[in-house]
Amino acid sequence: MSYLVLARKWRPQNFDEVVGQQAVVRTLRNALTRNRVAHAMLFSGVRGVGKTTLARLMAKALNCQQGEPDVPCNQCESCVEITAGNAIDLHEIDGASNRGIQEIRELKENIRFFPAKGRYKIIIIDEVHMLTTEAFNALLKTLEEPPAHVYFMFATTELHKIPITILSRCQRYELKRVPFAELVAFFARIAGAENVSISQHALEMIGREAEGSVRDGLSLLDQIFSFGGEEISDEDVVQVLGLVDRRIYEDLARALLASDLAGCLDIFEQSHGAGMDLKRFANDLLGFFRALLIAKVKTSPEELLDLSDQELAAIKEIAASASQETLYQYFSLLLKGSEEMQYSSRPRLALEMAFVRATQAGHIVPAATLLGRLDELLTGADSLAQSTVRPVRPAISTAEPEPLPPNPSISVYSSGTLPEQKKNETANSAISLAEHGGQSIPVSIAPPSGREVKKHWDEFVGYVKERKRWMAPVLQLCAMAREEGNELVLKFDDPSDCKLLQEHDNLKLLQAFALDFFQHDFRVVFKVRGAQPTEGGGGDEAEAVLVERRVLANDPVVQMATEIFGGQVGSIRTGPRSREV
Ligand SMILES: [Zn+2]
Repeated sequence: MSYLVLARKWRPQNFDEVVGQQAVVRTLRNALTRNRVAHAMLFSGVRGVGKTTLARLMAKALNCQQGEPDVPCNQCESCVEITAGNAIDLHEIDGASNRGIQEIRELKENIRFFPAKGRYKIIIIDEVHMLTTEAFNALLKTLEEPPAHVYFMFATTELHKIPITILSRCQRYELKRVPFAELVAFFARIAGAENVSISQHALEMIGREAEGSVRDGLSLLDQIFSFGGEEISDEDVVQVLGLVDRRIYEDLARALLASDLAGCLDIFEQSHGAGMDLKRFANDLLGFFRALLIAKVKTSPEELLDLSDQELAAIKEIAASASQETLYQYFSLLLKGSEEMQYSSRPRLALEMAFVRATQAGHIVPAATLLGRLDELLTGADSLAQSTVRPVRPAISTAEPEPLPPNPSISVYSSGTLPEQKKNETANSAISLAEHGGQSIPVSIAPPSGREVKKHWDEFVGYVKERKRWMAPVLQLCAMAREEGNELVLKFDDPSDCKLLQEHDNLKLLQAFALDFFQHDFRVVFKVRGAQPTEGGGGDEAEAVLVERRVLANDPVVQMATEIFGGQVGSIRTGPRSREV
């Protein structure tokens, strides 16, 4: 007997055997038992998920001569003929090759006659979206009033190409991709029935390749079974599918995240030497980093990932070694690399370049951690200054604190907007902050109760400065601080100035400082001038600022800086602080 491909051998002969699609199957069976089957049905979904299979099952059930309405007997003449593919009352039409108006006219002529043997004539049009507009129009009238002895079943992979006039006359069934676990279980059942020994890992590789399509998976199984016989090793599967073993991606991801360029190139060379497809490799590597990101941000990543427990454990372990920001950056660098690869005459170089960029990018540290480190550094500078430069120093100094440079953050300035001197000052601001830090600041004193916000604001800033160094210069950016009942209202000129303070942990800290200092449990409220155009800053001025920002964002220097650092412009500060000399 000739070899029957698995897809035909395992084609479901009744509804219980359908893999996946439980919701659609239940609806169809209900329609059959209640005798409420629509005369025009449309099955949509990606290839190989069971559209024509379900249409044939419906045909069988409708014309079956015995048994339950939703359980075709597979024994009567009609069932046997449909299974064999020679039922006279079942017309299967391929929409791709019979797409013209002439074919539809012939079809319409044909359905005028009663079925030859069965109860109904059943017309299945596969890939129905391929029909011409005229053909659809010719069909429309029939669909409006279908003869009682005719059922139309359409199948399509491209639902959006079906005219709305047709859609509205059909009962629609959308078929989903079959879930990974269900596919793998199905393949395991087939392997068992075919007496083929194959590992779970290998079945999962095939399941992943199938991407939710039963037919695709079965044709892969066919290839693998005929390649490996009754004993199939994981290597066989890797070879037949042209896969790169997933462990390679694990090793590569580890090397990338460890900034080990030499290691990356070695691993890459190994797989390249083994003859992998470059595009495929880049795609799968991207998929791996996507999995890492998902594992990082989701508490139950398995919902989104088609992975075995073992693979998931490896993914989680690697994801734990890097920050979310780092994983995101690697993902976007690799994405860029693989896109460049598509258009490059030297795709291998493009991908290697992406490795170079990624290993050089290093790890991204969240801003909060950086601030913590900055504080540590500043405190360190303080104690160093105290112990070496000014070993003797009064415990309480009466000297006024020197004003801090207004803006300690590092900014990108356009070359045209600042005089040279100002630029140097700005560049040094972070350093000068540390220097100022070593100088005399009133060492705090237990705050008396009932202080007024306005009057003692500067003192408060000093108080904060001793406790959370970075917060003080930010508070100094505050244009006005005042008390409004239980609220401590801080007014800022620029929303980006107070963004950091608004972060949950920082806000909590600030409120705690305010409670300690003012002896009042304030709720800190931020007001930004830009958000309330009525308070200062006329329309023209606001417009001018916008224009200036746009110019700055497009400035070549800024663009070069963002390119070099692989970053993006987060906020642009303009206005008196950066323009005044
Ligand atoms: Zn039957």
